[in-house]
Amino acid sequence: MSNRAMKIKFWGVRGSIPSPGLQYVKYGGNTLCVELYIEDIDRRIIIDAGSGLRLLGNHLMAAGLATESLRADIFLTHTHLDHIIGFPFFTPIFQAGTRLKIYGPVTCEDDSLETVIGAQMSYRYFPVRQEELAARIEYFNLKEGSFDLGDGVRLTTKYLNHPLLCLGLRFEYKGKTCCTAYDTEPFENLFVTDPRDPSYDEIMAHQGEAAARDENRRVEDFFKEADLLIHDAQYTQQEYDSGKHGWGHSPIEYAIKAARRSAVKRLALFHHDPVRSDEQLDELAALCCNPGNTGNTEVFFAREEMVVAL
Ligand SMILES: [Zn+2]
Ligand SMILES: [Zn+2]
Repeated sequence: MSNRAMKIKFWGVRGSIPSPGLQYVKYGGNTLCVELYIEDIDRRIIIDAGSGLRLLGNHLMAAGLATESLRADIFLTHTHLDHIIGFPFFTPIFQAGTRLKIYGPVTCEDDSLETVIGAQMSYRYFPVRQEELAARIEYFNLKEGSFDLGDGVRLTTKYLNHPLLCLGLRFEYKGKTCCTAYDTEPFENLFVTDPRDPSYDEIMAHQGEAAARDENRRVEDFFKEADLLIHDAQYTQQEYDSGKHGWGHSPIEYAIKAARRSAVKRLALFHHDPVRSDEQLDELAALCCNPGNTGNTEVFFAREEMVVAL
């Protein structure tokens, strides 16, 4: 490990809702949580706080890494439930020595990030209130931009295409890049494109087409040449085209094409649909992840407890 810049471990790969059960053992049923650890500088970055965060907390406690003084930065891509539901079950928040910095996008609503996360910890939903947590937790609003996180770690963020304000995250350290692009779907022309439709406007239709193309290009520029891209892959193209446009998630086929166009080295398909069984994911992997389809990009379906070293 010592000659590697970053170690990425998947603690939860499932989208929408935790999906325990015998059909979900191989890939795992916990929702989104990724740990990015930089050994050089003992820096622990956690991306999203889905139910997988509970496993990470348990691991840190068992390894003795969180008993006294855990330091971690938690970056939330957005605050949909599947991305924050693990927070109340992250044992280190009950340890007095824990110091957490939580970053997330600000929405158009008035509630602060602290309120959105903390709302899960009211007596209505949970027996411990946010005010009672022993850990020291600071909250920071995150917008689109480029940020120096100290110790040589750089973060660039990019707004994605999701019903709620959602950020892609690009972490760079010592020439290695780990990038996330979830939850998101391709931008589309929002104007009527059928000339037979009475509301068709040729100029608007062309402008809409160009705007969508530009936005998609910007997203692909954002993950250009990443060593690892963790991309939304909730649907197959067929499922996506059967009434799921606008739901905020990508088809697997699109994720692979976008990663190839951007010369991404490794693509982790992520945010698996909760109905997708191990068997189905294996079948899709055999279909989609062969070199004939993926070119120079190595493509795989992320699994719980899988580790990727960069
Ligand atoms: Zn999600
Ligand atoms: Zn979402």
